[in-house]
Amino acid sequence: MAAVFLVTLYEYSPLFYIAVVFTCFIVTTGLVLGWFGWDVPVILRNSEETQFNTRVFKKQMRQVKNPFGLEITNPSSASITTGITLTTDCLEDSLLTCYWGCSVQKFYEALQKHFYCFRISTPQALEDALYSEYLYQEQYFIKKDSKEEIYCQLPRDTKIEDFGSVPRSRYPLVALLTLADEDDREIYDIISMVSVIHIPDKTYKLSCRILYQYLLLAQGQFHDLKQLFMSANSNSTPSSNSSPGEKSTDQSLLEKAGLSESEVEPPEENSKDCVVCQNGTVNWVLLPCRHTCLCDGCVRYFQQCPMCRQFVQESFALCSQKEQEKDKRKAL
Ligand SMILES: [Zn+2]
Ligand SMILES: [Zn+2]
Repeated sequence: MAAVFLVTLYEYSPLFYIAVVFTCFIVTTGLVLGWFGWDVPVILRNSEETQFNTRVFKKQMRQVKNPFGLEITNPSSASITTGITLTTDCLEDSLLTCYWGCSVQKFYEALQKHFYCFRISTPQALEDALYSEYLYQEQYFIKKDSKEEIYCQLPRDTKIEDFGSVPRSRYPLVALLTLADEDDREIYDIISMVSVIHIPDKTYKLSCRILYQYLLLAQGQFHDLKQLFMSANSNSTPSSNSSPGEKSTDQSLLEKAGLSESEVEPPEENSKDCVVCQNGTVNWVLLPCRHTCLCDGCVRYFQQCPMCRQFVQESFALCSQKEQEKDKRKAL
């Protein structure tokens, strides 16, 4: 009996298998569509897209105008003995005050004071807050909208050649930019900018660089000014502090310590192309790595930064959609 059945099965086997496979297909299709309805099942959707929407938070940003700009000219030639050249670029008449050998502890106490009550809007205010815990001070007047090169040097008679071994109790140079005209302080949220600058000396030869830049607001907050990393572009001008494969620009991101809302400087030029589609205008900053390499179209496909593979925790647009449309209309 069993033998007859097997022989019959063998004779009809091709048809039998086709029938089994077809039945299975119908049952599976019925189950899937029955379960999810005619809407496309979740398993067939782009999983990255759904995950991105839930994982990456768009940071709320507010644009503020920063009247101050400060850069080191020729960082490689700067040293304690030969001095340093700073380039300033300010929107209003300003004062540049340099404090050589500024006490680290007193400096942070001064920032705390600014936060609580004592606004640092003038060089005198910072001096009072520092209790004159610095070795030498010099001051320069900066005309508005003029890129000025200012040469600062410790006078020879101070006989300071280094600031001791690491960890140090003094910063080599703290540069304070303040608005010269009292009326201007009413216009801007940002009333001063402090830059902490490392300058190499005999004991610590780390190359000259800006360690921190803080923007001090009239309301008492202060923000750490950070640079954004834009993809290298063949026709962009070389930047003094570029690293292989990436280029820092003047565009800076402010990260507010302890506050959810952050602020950003308006982009000066945004003609750079997206690293993914090579076509769209770069507009998105990925956090925490600060790579600025994606356009509006591509940003939603990435939960990892395409440049450094770091997971994106938050992101924000340099220019909101509405503003971009406005720009486009202006261009037309
Ligand atoms: Zn793109
Ligand atoms: Zn990155």
